[in-house]
Amino acid sequence: MLFDTHVHLNAEQFEEDLDEVIVRAQEAGVSNMVCVGFDRPTIKKAIELAESYDFIYACVGWHPVDAIDMTDEDLLWIEELASHPKVVAIGEMGLDYHWDKSPKDIQKEVFRKQIKLAKKVKLPIVIHNREATADIVEILQEEEAAEVGGIMHCFSGSPEVAMECLKMNFYISLGGPVTFKNAKKPKEVAAVVPLEKLLIETDCPYLAPHPYRGKRNEPGYVKLVAEQIAEIKGLSYEEVAGVTTANAKKVFDIN
Ligand SMILES: [Zn+2]
Ligand SMILES: [Zn+2]
Repeated sequence: MLFDTHVHLNAEQFEEDLDEVIVRAQEAGVSNMVCVGFDRPTIKKAIELAESYDFIYACVGWHPVDAIDMTDEDLLWIEELASHPKVVAIGEMGLDYHWDKSPKDIQKEVFRKQIKLAKKVKLPIVIHNREATADIVEILQEEEAAEVGGIMHCFSGSPEVAMECLKMNFYISLGGPVTFKNAKKPKEVAAVVPLEKLLIETDCPYLAPHPYRGKRNEPGYVKLVAEQIAEIKGLSYEEVAGVTTANAKKVFDIN
């Protein structure tokens, strides 16, 4: 059993063959997944998928790249959706300094608003971080995000930052990059972070693991992430699959 904690099956890349992608995921042993919505159309689609498949859950929030587009109505809508029985987390939210569509101060404001919202509705948060680690850690501390905790999704930071995040009640989620030969940091993080604090994800359709690097990613490939972690930690694949699945059920409060 595998739990893919971060998928975008709501992306247009899956419009043509979604059913086949889901069948392949189940054949690979994926028992659960969380579909992440991050703007109006993808939130709507994530909810639709969660309502259509009992093994798909939804996470709803606003992406930092598009922070400039988020209105007060959007925030209210996310708050309303938080009480939906299949919504298990708020996000993805955070900071992304790679793209400059949204100015940093607006990204920070939208990030803080969503942390406050998650604390109000008592749901964990899913963090997107690109080239913004110091500011992310500072805001999580200032907003006392440890109260709800959550997931550092597709974590690409150092082992030191990973340990800092564990102290703030966050799980570390590893994706395709841990399988890349030249990805030193994710491999170090996989080695250092206790299995009880690790999650696995694909972030599909992005960041496909080796040997599919550069191609469209899909949930079935999360198996390759689990296998890589098992190899790095010197554990069996079954143990990594079982423990990361139990971790995901714990953070998302699923049965
Ligand atoms: Zn992300
Ligand atoms: Zn994502």
